[in-house]
Amino acid sequence: MQKFNYHTHTYRCGHADFNQSDEDYVVEYIKMGFKDIAFTDHAPEKVRIDKRTNMRMDYHEREDYLNSIKYLKEKYRDAINIKTGYEVEYLPNEEDNLKELKNETDILILGQHFIYDDNKNLKIFGRNEFTNDELIRYANYIDTAIKLGIISILAHPDIFMLSMNEFSEIEEKITHMICSTAEKYNIPFEINLGNIYARVYLRNMNYDNLSDEEKEAILSRVRYPNRRFWQIASNYNIKVLYGIDAHYKGQILAYDKLVNIANEIIGKDTIDKLNFIDKL
Ligand SMILES: [Zn+2]
Ligand SMILES: [Zn+2]
Repeated sequence: MQKFNYHTHTYRCGHADFNQSDEDYVVEYIKMGFKDIAFTDHAPEKVRIDKRTNMRMDYHEREDYLNSIKYLKEKYRDAINIKTGYEVEYLPNEEDNLKELKNETDILILGQHFIYDDNKNLKIFGRNEFTNDELIRYANYIDTAIKLGIISILAHPDIFMLSMNEFSEIEEKITHMICSTAEKYNIPFEINLGNIYARVYLRNMNYDNLSDEEKEAILSRVRYPNRRFWQIASNYNIKVLYGIDAHYKGQILAYDKLVNIANEIIGKDTIDKLNFIDKL
């Protein structure tokens, strides 16, 4: 099983475990046998665009964040490789700010949680409904962001399913668009384990003891990974890796189970076709 994870948050974002220090995550990863990790907390904004509270650190917190990770990188260098990074969203006119963030860190992962609508308001997956044109804009933003040449991983590429009830024609179309770009620019896709943890373990502590029907009912509420998305992706030459999207220690502890559930959702035939990588 994959023993690296490039998707870890910290208490600074405001919606991760507040009692968990950066070092607590590192210690947990080492205990679980991980060899290579990255902290990729939600990127701060120089000028505030995302008006939600508790979504990301303030811009002035960057220094404390990066210093803390660099300190841990040095302290645990014999046990584990640690990278600094951010999970970023692309928005038009934010290119320079993204490049600045890249210059400060080892990796950026693209977690495109939202887009602008025609009036330049944020449309957020899981909060808003999306028109077909807006879904296409999501794919176009990913394309533009990847072409900047500063993105190392596309996190939860199927996150748009948070706002969609079924996977129909338009979903298929944007999946092909995103896959074409990723293949062309050699950008790995992340099978994100965060929604599984949120829907399965965070709400059903005794999930493992439930009946098959009960488990099935719970799994049907997981929005990503999406089975159809990954079936399509498996027909492209795209690198793939799992991402814990850690906001809680429990996600690292439950890692093996989360991977098994993700594989079950995606299906063995597709999993066998995917091109899993050994390291970044
Ligand atoms: Zn988060
Ligand atoms: Zn994340």
